[in-house]
Amino acid sequence: MLALKRDVILAPFSTFKIGGPADFFASVTTAAELIEALEYAADNSLKSFVFSGGSNLLIADHGFRGLVIRIANASARINGRDIAADAGTPLQSIVSLATEHGLAGLERLAGIPGSLGGAIRGNAGAFGAEIRDSVLSVKAYDREAQVLREFSAKQCAFGYRQSHFKAHPELIILSATLRLEE
Ligand SMILES: Cc1cc2nc3c(=O)[nH]c(=O)nc-3n(C[C@H](O)[C@H](O)[C@H](O)COP(=O)(O)OP(=O)(O)OC[C@H]3O[C@@H](n4cnc5c(N)ncnc54)[C@H](O)[C@@H]3O)c2cc1C
Repeated sequence: MLALKRDVILAPFSTFKIGGPADFFASVTTAAELIEALEYAADNSLKSFVFSGGSNLLIADHGFRGLVIRIANASARINGRDIAADAGTPLQSIVSLATEHGLAGLERLAGIPGSLGGAIRGNAGAFGAEIRDSVLSVKAYDREAQVLREFSAKQCAFGYRQSHFKAHPELIILSATLRLEE
C-alpha cells in the first residue's frame, strides 16, 4: 500500500545533498504502488517527478511543488548468466553481484553511483563500456498509455548517454534483465 508523505526534504535523497521540500513524496517498490502514486497526482492535479538514485539531479532549494516519486524497488536475481533486477537496485550492487558470480561485462561500470533504472535511462558508462552492452530487455510503465511495456535492447535505442526512455519521459523503468559473459 502506498505511503504518501507531506513536506519531505529532498536533500538526503540526492548525492549532492541539496534540495528543498517536496509537497508530497512517495517511495514505491511495486508497479501497483507506482500506478497508485501517479493516480493520486492526476486526481489532485499535482505535477509529478520520478527519480531513483538521485546521483544525476540538482534539486532546487525551493524544492518541488507536486508529488516526487522515488523508485525504490531493489532486488536482483541471478539466472545462469542473466541478472534480473529491479530499477531501484543500486548499480554498484549489481556490479558486485556479477563479479561475485564470475560474470563479466559490468566491471568497468564499478563506482558509477545511482540505480539500474537511472543507468539505463542515461545509458551510463565508463572506460569505454556502457550499460547497453549488457541490457537484454527492460520493463517500463507508460504513464500516458497506462500500460506496462517490455522493450528489447534494440527498442531501447541506446546512444551516447541517451535512450528511448530519456526521449520518452512518460516511460518509467521498473526492471531489466542483463545478459553477461562467464
Ligand atoms: C560522483 C559521480 C560520478 C559519476 N560518474 C558517472 C560515470 O562515470 N558515467 C556515467 O554515465 N554517469 C556518471 N554519473 C552520473 C550518474 O551516476 C548516472 O547518470 C546515473 O546512472 C544516474 O542514476 P540515478 O538512479 O542516480 O538517477 P537519478 O539522479 O535518480 O535521476 C536522473 C534522471 O533519470 C530519471 N530516472 C531515474 N530513475 C528512473 C526510472 N526508473 N525510470 C525513468 N526515469 C528515471 C530521473 O527522472 C532523472 O531525470 C556520476 C555521478 C556522480 C555524482
